[in-house]
Amino acid sequence: MLVEVDTHTHTMLSGHAFSTLEENMRAAAAKGLKHLCITDHGPKLGGSAPYYVSGMYNMLPSCVDGVQMHYGLELNITDFEGGLDLPPERMHTLQFALAGMHEIVIAPKDKEAHTNAYEKALANVHIDAPSHPGSVNFECDIERVVAAAKKYSKLIEINNHSFYVRAANIPNCVAFAKECMRKGVRVIVSSDAHFSGNIGVVDKAMAMLDSIGFPKELIVNLTAKSFEKYMEERASRVGA
Ligand SMILES: [Zn+2]
Ligand SMILES: [Zn+2]
Repeated sequence: MLVEVDTHTHTMLSGHAFSTLEENMRAAAAKGLKHLCITDHGPKLGGSAPYYVSGMYNMLPSCVDGVQMHYGLELNITDFEGGLDLPPERMHTLQFALAGMHEIVIAPKDKEAHTNAYEKALANVHIDAPSHPGSVNFECDIERVVAAAKKYSKLIEINNHSFYVRAANIPNCVAFAKECMRKGVRVIVSSDAHFSGNIGVVDKAMAMLDSIGFPKELIVNLTAKSFEKYMEERASRVGA
């Protein structure tokens, strides 16, 4: 186990992932994780759950087999001006929230538009981090996106899944990490698991961070303690 918290995981509610919520919980417990964030895709991604699913999160257990649960979404950025696929009045139902661009939801435009989209998402009080911002399909100004994360005390995601299936993104992931290191911006290193067996798997992303001497204290999900500290910060930010 490389991290005590996985901040980006999917269940069958995403429509194209393969494990149930309960299977993910059990996998997290078996691996010794202390916290697990469930971040199914937002409703605009075909096959994912309807917009009102997050209204049901209060029915779910907050702790299973010693794993603290946080139910959120990986929202879709739906335009380049801060649009997300959850109505503003429902954002408070998210206990953790990522925002990302997926080609099947939004057609790539240009670097300025993508950068603006990430900046606007980071300005939204409910969003914790952009998901896989190293995507080459949505090239952005890395310095500006990291500066926005710093301005709003948000996080930058280093997505382990990218190292396996989106190899073209790796140079951007490295550039994001180096810029975070330079500016003292915190990161989350996540599995983006779409199958329970991949919960907590962050091997390649962590190896990359090690290789550039990335400071451990900037990895928010490395320990339960640092993640809990961030979640306290989050609670006061969103007024929970
Ligand atoms: Zn994604
Ligand atoms: Zn994802």
